[in-house]
Amino acid sequence: MQVLINCEKNVEAVKYGFFSMGDILGLDIEFVDQISTNAPFPVLIYYGEAIPEEIVGKPFEIAFHILPSERSNIIAPALSWGDDRITSIPFAFGTGLTSIDPGRMVNKSPSSVFAGWVDQRTLRCSIDFPLSVSYFLSLEHERDQRTDELGRPIGPESWIYNKGFSNVPMVDRLVAAFWMLCCCAYARGKALLVRKIPWPNHRKFCMPVSHDIDLVQKWTINAVIKEGISILTDKQKRHLKYATQTLRSVASSHRDRKKDPYWNFNQIISLEKKYDISSTFYFLTYRKHHRINNQKMVGNYGRRHKDVCSIMKEIYREGCEIGLHGSIDGFKDGNILEADRNQIEGCFNGACNGIRQHFLLLDKNRTPSEQLKAGFQYDSTLGYRDICGYRCGTGFPYSWFNLFTDGNDNFLEVPLIVMDSSLVLERKGDFNGCYEQLFDLLRQALNQESCMTLLWHNTSFSDPSYPWLRQLFEDALSFAHKNDGWVTNISSLCQWWLQRRKIKLQVIQSNRMSYINIIDPPSDYIFGLDVFVPEGLPYEFRNLNNFEIEKTGEIEMFKNHSGYRGKICRLYVHPGQKGLQPARKHPNPS
Ligand SMILES: [Zn+2]
Repeated sequence: MQVLINCEKNVEAVKYGFFSMGDILGLDIEFVDQISTNAPFPVLIYYGEAIPEEIVGKPFEIAFHILPSERSNIIAPALSWGDDRITSIPFAFGTGLTSIDPGRMVNKSPSSVFAGWVDQRTLRCSIDFPLSVSYFLSLEHERDQRTDELGRPIGPESWIYNKGFSNVPMVDRLVAAFWMLCCCAYARGKALLVRKIPWPNHRKFCMPVSHDIDLVQKWTINAVIKEGISILTDKQKRHLKYATQTLRSVASSHRDRKKDPYWNFNQIISLEKKYDISSTFYFLTYRKHHRINNQKMVGNYGRRHKDVCSIMKEIYREGCEIGLHGSIDGFKDGNILEADRNQIEGCFNGACNGIRQHFLLLDKNRTPSEQLKAGFQYDSTLGYRDICGYRCGTGFPYSWFNLFTDGNDNFLEVPLIVMDSSLVLERKGDFNGCYEQLFDLLRQALNQESCMTLLWHNTSFSDPSYPWLRQLFEDALSFAHKNDGWVTNISSLCQWWLQRRKIKLQVIQSNRMSYINIIDPPSDYIFGLDVFVPEGLPYEFRNLNNFEIEKTGEIEMFKNHSGYRGKICRLYVHPGQKGLQPARKHPNPS
């Protein structure tokens, strides 16, 4: 899909927005400075004010013309139609599109979210998709937000939370609306539009699972003293049964450190094995304890350091990923992160590709570039510590704006959506509330084929205050298992995401037939395509050269409306197959 950007302001942000939308959608986006080809092509995406005369005369069928938002900078660009309308961006195909006949409005009201209309060879649209997407992904909405003493945003005070968007992936919705309008343009241009679906191997959504290992020993001397005092003074704990249970737990973990309630790695792994999944464990390195505002913070595992090293090996041998839980003083210092990374790698003799900063400390202008400098391939810190949800508007992996403009778009951010402790904080420890919210988010991820990263601390598997946390985690695994979710570690997700990005799709149109050419298909995954076929185009999917194409169904688009129609066909391509796949014959000229 050719995109021509012709504007003076925000050029980099607009380009980044298009790139990110293409990445999430699986659409190949090609930026062009001018239209070089003389061969006709179906759709040109034009971003700018009025289309210049010399472009109007070029051989495309239709221009999808996106008007830049009126704001002169990136603050709240596309929100000018009313903040509350964002949630009304429909996810279902067809909603809101009353008619897209040439010369008529796409929607009745130009002030609605679908302020687009087709006029001869132009589909004009006044939602500034690329700038809105880049606005959320680069956290511009947090610009004037108050932070806590560590510089982290306060979830319940955030703009996103107060507008009721924290559980709504706004970027993903904007992207879905953009896809729908692209399909309109291709319907009018009478051509196929192809995108790569997000997940491999017929998976319907993705739930990467991770564990931050902050503590490995519950019964430290301090903890035993504290617990003893609270048994004597706290009415709820002053029971013989509770006291003997605690005493037994303390005694057995004293005899064998592996019996400590927080040394539960084997239980976590065997639970995950039951569902045949592999997760990510982020470990701290051996550094001094930190003090922030004179308060001692968790910073290492104390005397358990050597035991931790050997458990890392064991976890790694079980097929899980080992990542770095980045230390507090390292989140702005690549040298510290690199030293920590080397230390972790020395422990388990493998590659440590990923990082999540301890305390979710993240400075968007510093942390990603320092992590990249330290040799990491991804980060998964971006989330709120006190609420769940979509801090940057998406659950999909994406490239940071500042690294993108430096030319490093392979370093990925995998947003953290649900953390056990933030779920408990947000729902004030209420089991029903936590359950409901987690499963609402999971169902949303399933319905929208999106991604929802989960963090469950090892301590939550043995938490006497919230004994149901372990079961809640298992229920989430079971949900994903039943619904064809891809439950995986974060490194595998990133590898897939970059591999998917590399697959190139080419639609070749000749007089009689159109072909989809797949360049660099993955050799070890089944991957899927969505092909938009405009109504009235006879087409067929056939096997050429023994390619196995699996067709799994069609979705009618815009079926309730009198304008352009079409359908989406979903195809799967099996490993090892490459080359041309014929897609359709051209329509009868009549
Ligand atoms: Zn931590």
